[in-house]
Amino acid sequence: MSQLQERTETNSTGGGEYDVLVVGAGFAGLYALYKLRGLGYSVRVLERGDGVGGTWFWNCYPGARVDVESLEYSYSFSEELEQDWEWTERYPRQPEILKYINHVADRFELWPDIQLETTVETAHFDEERGRWTVTTDLGEVYDAQHVIMATGCLSQRKNPGDEFAGLDTFKGDWYLTSAWPKEDVDLSGKRVVVVGTGSTAIQVIPKVAQQADHVTVLQRTANFSVPAQNGPMDPEFQSALKARYRAHRKAAKESAFGVPVEMPERSALDFSAEEARAELEARWQAGGAAPFMLAFTDVLVDERANEVVAEFVRDKIRATVKDPATADLLCPRDHPLGTKRLCVDTEYYETYNRDNVELVSVRENPIARITPTGIRLQDGTEFEADVIVFAIGFDAMTGALFDIDLRGRGNVALKEAWKDGPRTYLGLTTVGFPNLYMITGPGSPSVLSNMVVSIEQHVDWIADLIEHMRERGLGVVEATQEAQDKWVAHVHEVGHATLFPRANSWYMGANVPGKPRVFTPYIGGVGVYRQECDEVAAKGYEGFDLSGERSLATA
Ligand SMILES: Cc1cc2nc3c(=O)[nH]c(=O)nc-3n(C[C@H](O)[C@H](O)[C@H](O)COP(=O)(O)OP(=O)(O)OC[C@H]3O[C@@H](n4cnc5c(N)ncnc54)[C@H](O)[C@@H]3O)c2cc1C
Repeated sequence: MSQLQERTETNSTGGGEYDVLVVGAGFAGLYALYKLRGLGYSVRVLERGDGVGGTWFWNCYPGARVDVESLEYSYSFSEELEQDWEWTERYPRQPEILKYINHVADRFELWPDIQLETTVETAHFDEERGRWTVTTDLGEVYDAQHVIMATGCLSQRKNPGDEFAGLDTFKGDWYLTSAWPKEDVDLSGKRVVVVGTGSTAIQVIPKVAQQADHVTVLQRTANFSVPAQNGPMDPEFQSALKARYRAHRKAAKESAFGVPVEMPERSALDFSAEEARAELEARWQAGGAAPFMLAFTDVLVDERANEVVAEFVRDKIRATVKDPATADLLCPRDHPLGTKRLCVDTEYYETYNRDNVELVSVRENPIARITPTGIRLQDGTEFEADVIVFAIGFDAMTGALFDIDLRGRGNVALKEAWKDGPRTYLGLTTVGFPNLYMITGPGSPSVLSNMVVSIEQHVDWIADLIEHMRERGLGVVEATQEAQDKWVAHVHEVGHATLFPRANSWYMGANVPGKPRVFTPYIGGVGVYRQECDEVAAKGYEGFDLSGERSLATA
């Protein structure tokens, strides 16, 4: 029995009353526990997995790594933690991030309040008592005043069996990147077909190619990718940054994407072609996504400016990939750069120069079905496979919330309230669901940011609101319809002033059949958004109705 299993078994409380119930034990759930417990609330975290870490617990496929630099993609709430933890790479691999998150759980003694292997199935608001009743797959019943959904924006995986007929007939092995086995998967000597070419696929394909006998990549959409320029962490660089960590963190919090990148001052169109190329070349050599999207003032708002950057990347693809037909297939042409997640890779394009790797477009000739021996396309072409790797993404932003039978006032289901797309106030709360909070919810910068920065901001803001209520003896908080309508309109207006809605992206819900096409994250910028949230708080939580007797379970 693993240490974690032991912890779980000793942790089950069988239900009970809490001030705050947190669903999910990723970066968000752990910080929510640390913060609120520290303020004296009784807190319980319920997590489906048999370990903490969320994204970094589940996504243990070969090549999995973060694409925001480690010194930025880490908690800032504890200066001691920040100083003590030593990162070994500029962009760490999944095991290192998981080790870090487990260290956080150990260091701050979070384990006693975390219950693993527990899935929240229902959460219903009791209007009379102003409290939530939450049930789990273990048959437990929890009663909580506040519920924090730390369920993740990218945690509800898409099921390949729903998408591709015949998967149950396949005689080989198949793997989903977001549920990769914890034990080693040996692909040597195997014929592997990879389905997908998004952010995850771009990480996994080079690794699979190093092991497998032959790899066929089935590409529906070519995506833009820029190099990470990853490498071992320079100890001098790390200690120099740690010496000025407070200023660095402050800059991240005030920045556009949660990473301190100098803001551009000029339009791409003000540069000569040569100057623009030189500027982009410097960014290509430095590595990372944010510097590309912020190369010029107008990359994300002006098609011509975007095309300058897009064509630079296409030139890089053509210069890297030796076979012109493959290079051409890899060049994205159906969406502006950055409007689908800009991927960050290590030798992705180079991988197509290997003899054992072949790229096939399934855009015009889609996958018809999975057969017992491989994958058949609509025109009858068949690719034999010993192993299929699905890197097909997530039901992003709303999937994990809808997976729970979540009911607010009048027994209305969240799914019903959001049938035309998610509607929130500040991406944190939604009308009809009092005392329910979403971390990095729809309508907040969330997936368009360094998410650890956004998570900390949300948790701190929610904790301040709960404190505000406690100080005033108030029990129930709910966004007003007017405030929510205004916020939704603002998110829409800002989003539609950019090129983002031009892409069939998961930001738009386009990767899930039947999902409303709504640009879900807030692109106003991490710093601007923080100011907006702070102003709401400073005005006594403007846009919220605060009422009801305080009904904390303990206190
Ligand atoms: C492959 C991949 C790479 C990524 N890379 C980056 C990156 O480079 N930079 C970046 O900023 N972000 C990245 N992200 C986004 C990443 O999700 C966030 O950075 C961050 O880890 C989110 O933390 P979280 O705690 O909000 O959610 P998660 O880490 O998703 O955790 C949510 C947890 O909630 C649990 N849960 C959900 N529903 C239930 C339920 N009903 N009952 C019980 N438990 C439940 C899940 O099991 C999960 O463990 C990446 C995401 C993926 C998938």
